Amino acid sequence: MKLQKITLISFGYFDHDFLQNIAKKIHDEFFITAQVKEAYFDLSDFYDPARRQYDANQLLHYIEKNYSADDAKTIGLFNVDLFIPIFTYIFGQAFLNGRTGIASAYRLSNERYGIDADAELMQERFAKEIIHELGHTFGLKHCHVSDCIMRSGTYVEDIDQKNSGFCQTCNDNLLI
Ligand SMILES: [Zn+2]
Ligand SMILES: [Zn+2]
Repeated sequence: MKLQKITLISFGYFDHDFLQNIAKKIHDEFFITAQVKEAYFDLSDFYDPARRQYDANQLLHYIEKNYSADDAKTIGLFNVDLFIPIFTYIFGQAFLNGRTGIASAYRLSNERYGIDADAELMQERFAKEIIHELGHTFGLKHCHVSDCIMRSGTYVEDIDQKNSGFCQTCNDNLLI
């Protein structure tokens, strides 16, 4: 079946234009229309008081169960600090060759690191993070090419060093 669409569902408080610009960047990468929706559920169920962060595995499964559809790749967008047990924090995660991913803008702003705000950079980082997670849903694993969007990164600087697109090998392997 040919995939019909990419759906971005905002569960955080994001500016309309911010999300539309990101949707456009995603379209430019995959040539698939990315539609933006908004939804709400109570995040407190996913909060881990001991870590003071949100459980990314549980969130990913919740989105998969309640919001995903077979004819789309669905990415849940958040603005909370995400963790999985083996890492201090993560920017996002997705099911490999699946329907669902999540991404958070929480650690992507300059202000988080005591640097002056840069709206455009912030937008670019979040778009890259979402494209990376979409790459996983389209069957790509992490890549070792230094500027490929599928390279795994720990720090926000790692995101800045990547292109917003796929290296040739990843591009060839995208299961679209
Ligand atoms: Zn990844
Ligand atoms: Zn690559």
